[in-house]
Amino acid sequence: MSVVTIERKVLQKNDELAAANRELFARNGLLVLNIVSSPGAGKTTLLEATIEALRDKVRIAVVEGDVQTDIDAQRVAQYGVPVVQIVTNGGCHLEASLVADAVGSLDLDQVDLLLIENVGNLVCPANFDLGEALKVVVLSTTEGADKPLKYPAMFRKAGVLIVNKVDLLPYVNVDIAAIKRHAHQINPRLVIFETAATSRFGVAEWCDWLMAKLTAGHA
Ligand code: MG
Repeated sequence: MSVVTIERKVLQKNDELAAANRELFARNGLLVLNIVSSPGAGKTTLLEATIEALRDKVRIAVVEGDVQTDIDAQRVAQYGVPVVQIVTNGGCHLEASLVADAVGSLDLDQVDLLLIENVGNLVCPANFDLGEALKVVVLSTTEGADKPLKYPAMFRKAGVLIVNKVDLLPYVNVDIAAIKRHAHQINPRLVIFETAATSRFGVAEWCDWLMAKLTAGHA
Protein backbone atom coordinates (compact mmCIF):
# COMPACT_ATOMS: atom_id res chain seq x y z
CA MET A 1 0.00 0.00 0.00
CA SER A 2 2.66 2.52 1.00
CA VAL A 3 4.62 1.76 -2.18
CA VAL A 4 1.60 2.64 -4.27
CA THR A 5 1.15 5.88 -2.38
CA ILE A 6 4.77 6.91 -2.81
CA GLU A 7 4.64 6.18 -6.51
CA ARG A 8 1.49 8.26 -6.86
CA LYS A 9 3.16 11.17 -5.09
CA VAL A 10 6.22 10.92 -7.34
CA LEU A 11 4.04 10.92 -10.45
CA GLN A 12 1.93 13.81 -9.18
CA LYS A 13 5.05 15.89 -8.49
CA ASN A 14 6.38 15.00 -11.93
CA ASP A 15 3.11 16.05 -13.58
CA GLU A 16 3.33 19.46 -11.88
CA LEU A 17 6.89 19.97 -13.10
CA ALA A 18 5.92 18.78 -16.58
CA ALA A 19 3.12 21.36 -16.68
CA ALA A 20 5.69 24.05 -15.82
CA ASN A 21 7.96 22.79 -18.62
CA ARG A 22 5.02 22.88 -21.04
CA GLU A 23 4.32 26.50 -20.12
CA LEU A 24 7.98 27.40 -20.61
CA PHE A 25 8.05 25.68 -24.01
CA ALA A 26 4.84 27.43 -25.10
CA ARG A 27 6.19 30.81 -24.00
CA ASN A 28 9.23 30.26 -26.18
CA GLY A 29 7.23 28.94 -29.15
CA LEU A 30 9.01 25.59 -29.00
CA LEU A 31 7.80 22.31 -30.45
CA VAL A 32 9.07 19.57 -28.13
CA LEU A 33 9.18 15.88 -28.97
CA ASN A 34 9.80 13.08 -26.47
CA ILE A 35 11.35 10.21 -28.44
CA VAL A 36 10.95 6.81 -26.83
CA SER A 37 11.77 3.22 -27.74
CA SER A 38 13.50 0.12 -26.47
CA PRO A 39 17.33 0.16 -26.62
CA GLY A 40 18.69 -0.18 -30.13
CA ALA A 41 15.51 0.65 -32.05
CA GLY A 42 17.27 3.56 -33.75
CA LYS A 43 16.32 6.71 -31.83
CA THR A 44 19.72 8.34 -32.16
CA THR A 45 20.08 7.47 -35.84
CA LEU A 46 16.59 8.86 -36.48
CA LEU A 47 17.61 12.01 -34.60
CA GLU A 48 20.72 12.35 -36.76
CA ALA A 49 18.67 11.87 -39.94
CA THR A 50 16.04 14.37 -38.77
CA ILE A 51 18.63 17.00 -37.87
CA GLU A 52 20.39 16.49 -41.19
CA ALA A 53 17.11 17.03 -43.07
CA LEU A 54 15.81 20.00 -41.08
CA ARG A 55 18.77 21.94 -39.68
CA ASP A 56 18.76 24.47 -42.55
CA LYS A 57 15.02 25.10 -42.08
CA VAL A 58 14.54 25.22 -38.32
CA ARG A 59 16.67 25.80 -35.24
CA ILE A 60 17.05 22.49 -33.44
CA ALA A 61 18.33 21.56 -29.99
CA VAL A 62 18.64 18.12 -28.44
CA VAL A 63 18.42 16.68 -24.94
CA GLU A 64 19.91 13.21 -24.66
CA GLY A 65 18.88 10.88 -21.86
CA ASP A 66 21.00 7.82 -21.09
CA VAL A 67 21.62 5.56 -18.15
CA GLN A 68 25.36 5.98 -18.69
CA THR A 69 27.85 7.63 -21.12
CA ASP A 70 27.58 10.66 -23.42
CA ILE A 71 28.06 8.59 -26.60
CA ASP A 72 24.74 9.76 -28.09
CA ALA A 73 25.37 13.43 -27.26
CA GLN A 74 28.74 13.21 -28.99
CA ARG A 75 27.12 11.69 -32.08
CA VAL A 76 24.45 14.40 -32.24
CA ALA A 77 26.90 17.25 -31.51
CA GLN A 78 28.69 16.44 -34.77
CA TYR A 79 25.66 17.87 -36.57
CA GLY A 80 26.35 21.30 -35.12
CA VAL A 81 23.24 21.65 -32.95
CA PRO A 82 23.20 22.45 -29.22
CA VAL A 83 22.95 19.24 -27.20
CA VAL A 84 22.71 18.53 -23.48
CA GLN A 85 23.33 15.06 -22.08
CA ILE A 86 21.45 13.82 -19.03
CA VAL A 87 23.00 10.76 -17.37
CA THR A 88 20.44 9.10 -15.14
CA ASN A 89 22.96 6.84 -13.35
CA GLY A 90 20.73 3.81 -13.54
CA GLY A 91 17.37 5.59 -13.78
CA CYS A 92 15.21 3.91 -16.43
CA HIS A 93 13.48 7.09 -17.68
CA LEU A 94 13.78 10.87 -17.88
CA GLU A 95 11.74 13.00 -15.50
CA ALA A 96 10.38 16.52 -15.93
CA SER A 97 12.82 17.91 -13.32
CA LEU A 98 15.84 16.55 -15.23
CA VAL A 99 14.55 18.09 -18.46
CA ALA A 100 13.97 21.43 -16.70
CA ASP A 101 17.61 21.39 -15.55
CA ALA A 102 18.85 20.42 -19.01
CA VAL A 103 16.94 23.13 -20.90
CA GLY A 104 18.23 25.66 -18.36
CA SER A 105 21.55 25.53 -20.16
CA LEU A 106 19.99 26.12 -23.60
CA ASP A 107 19.11 29.48 -25.12
CA LEU A 108 15.45 28.67 -25.83
CA ASP A 109 15.00 31.93 -27.77
CA GLN A 110 17.25 30.39 -30.40
CA VAL A 111 15.36 27.09 -30.70
CA ASP A 112 12.23 26.12 -32.68
CA LEU A 113 12.36 22.35 -32.27
CA LEU A 114 13.56 20.53 -29.16
CA LEU A 115 14.15 16.82 -29.57
CA ILE A 116 14.38 14.84 -26.34
CA GLU A 117 15.79 11.33 -26.66
CA ASN A 118 14.54 9.36 -23.69
CA VAL A 119 16.29 6.42 -22.02
CA GLY A 120 15.86 3.25 -24.08
CA ASN A 121 12.95 1.49 -22.39
CA LEU A 122 9.37 0.81 -23.51
CA VAL A 123 7.97 0.71 -19.97
CA CYS A 124 9.06 3.41 -17.48
CA PRO A 125 9.15 6.48 -19.77
CA ALA A 126 5.43 6.02 -20.52
CA ASN A 127 4.50 7.24 -17.03
CA PHE A 128 6.65 10.35 -16.93
CA ASP A 129 5.38 13.38 -18.80
CA LEU A 130 8.25 15.74 -19.64
CA GLY A 131 6.08 18.62 -20.86
CA GLU A 132 6.45 17.59 -24.50
CA ALA A 133 3.88 18.33 -27.20
CA LEU A 134 4.22 14.88 -28.66
CA LYS A 135 5.60 11.44 -27.83
CA VAL A 136 7.20 9.68 -30.77
CA VAL A 137 7.65 5.94 -30.31
CA VAL A 138 10.23 4.20 -32.46
CA LEU A 139 9.82 0.45 -32.98
CA SER A 140 12.29 -1.50 -35.09
CA THR A 141 11.07 -4.35 -37.25
CA THR A 142 13.42 -6.73 -35.42
CA GLU A 143 11.42 -6.32 -32.21
CA GLY A 144 8.38 -8.21 -33.49
CA ALA A 145 4.76 -7.35 -34.21
CA ASP A 146 3.49 -8.08 -30.70
CA LYS A 147 5.19 -5.14 -28.96
CA PRO A 148 2.31 -2.63 -29.22
CA LEU A 149 0.10 -5.21 -27.50
CA LYS A 150 2.70 -6.04 -24.84
CA TYR A 151 3.63 -2.44 -24.03
CA PRO A 152 0.31 -0.66 -24.67
CA ALA A 153 0.85 2.37 -22.40
CA MET A 154 3.65 3.70 -24.55
CA PHE A 155 1.68 3.29 -27.77
CA ARG A 156 -1.48 4.72 -26.21
CA LYS A 157 0.32 7.90 -25.14
CA ALA A 158 2.25 8.42 -28.37
CA GLY A 159 1.07 10.56 -31.28
CA VAL A 160 3.49 9.08 -33.79
CA LEU A 161 4.88 5.60 -34.39
CA ILE A 162 7.99 5.27 -36.49
CA VAL A 163 8.56 1.71 -37.66
CA ASN A 164 12.31 1.71 -38.22
CA LYS A 165 14.71 -0.73 -39.91
CA VAL A 166 12.20 -1.62 -42.63
CA ASP A 167 15.24 -2.45 -44.77
CA LEU A 168 15.63 -5.57 -42.59
CA LEU A 169 12.14 -6.88 -43.39
CA PRO A 170 13.43 -9.48 -45.89
CA TYR A 171 15.58 -10.99 -43.12
CA VAL A 172 13.23 -11.01 -40.13
CA ASN A 173 10.11 -13.01 -39.52
CA VAL A 174 7.78 -10.08 -38.96
CA ASP A 175 4.67 -8.81 -40.70
CA ILE A 176 4.73 -5.02 -40.89
CA ALA A 177 0.98 -4.95 -41.50
CA ALA A 178 0.57 -6.72 -38.14
CA ILE A 179 2.78 -4.14 -36.40
CA LYS A 180 0.56 -1.36 -37.73
CA ARG A 181 -2.67 -3.22 -37.02
CA HIS A 182 -1.66 -3.88 -33.42
CA ALA A 183 -0.51 -0.29 -32.95
CA HIS A 184 -3.81 1.09 -34.27
CA GLN A 185 -5.71 -1.42 -32.15
CA ILE A 186 -4.09 0.19 -29.08
CA ASN A 187 -4.27 3.75 -30.41
CA PRO A 188 -6.34 4.45 -33.56
CA ARG A 189 -5.00 8.03 -33.79
CA LEU A 190 -1.34 7.01 -34.17
CA VAL A 191 0.32 8.53 -37.23
CA ILE A 192 2.65 5.87 -38.60
CA PHE A 193 5.82 6.27 -40.67
CA GLU A 194 8.12 3.60 -42.07
CA THR A 195 11.83 4.34 -42.10
CA ALA A 196 15.27 2.86 -42.45
CA ALA A 197 17.07 5.68 -40.68
CA THR A 198 20.60 4.49 -41.50
CA SER A 199 19.96 4.81 -45.24
CA ARG A 200 17.55 7.76 -44.69
CA PHE A 201 14.69 5.82 -46.35
CA GLY A 202 11.34 7.34 -45.37
CA VAL A 203 12.95 10.17 -43.40
CA ALA A 204 11.72 12.84 -45.84
CA GLU A 205 8.06 11.86 -45.26
CA TRP A 206 8.51 12.03 -41.48
CA CYS A 207 10.31 15.38 -41.73
CA ASP A 208 7.67 16.85 -44.06
CA TRP A 209 5.02 15.94 -41.50
CA LEU A 210 7.10 17.48 -38.72
CA MET A 211 7.65 20.68 -40.71
CA ALA A 212 3.87 20.97 -41.29
CA LYS A 213 3.37 20.56 -37.54
CA LEU A 214 5.97 23.26 -36.82
CA THR A 215 4.43 25.65 -39.35
CA ALA A 216 0.95 25.08 -37.96
CA GLY A 217 2.21 25.72 -34.44
CA HIS A 218 3.89 28.97 -35.35
CA ALA A 219 1.05 30.27 -37.52
MG1 MG B 1 20.35 6.50 -28.39
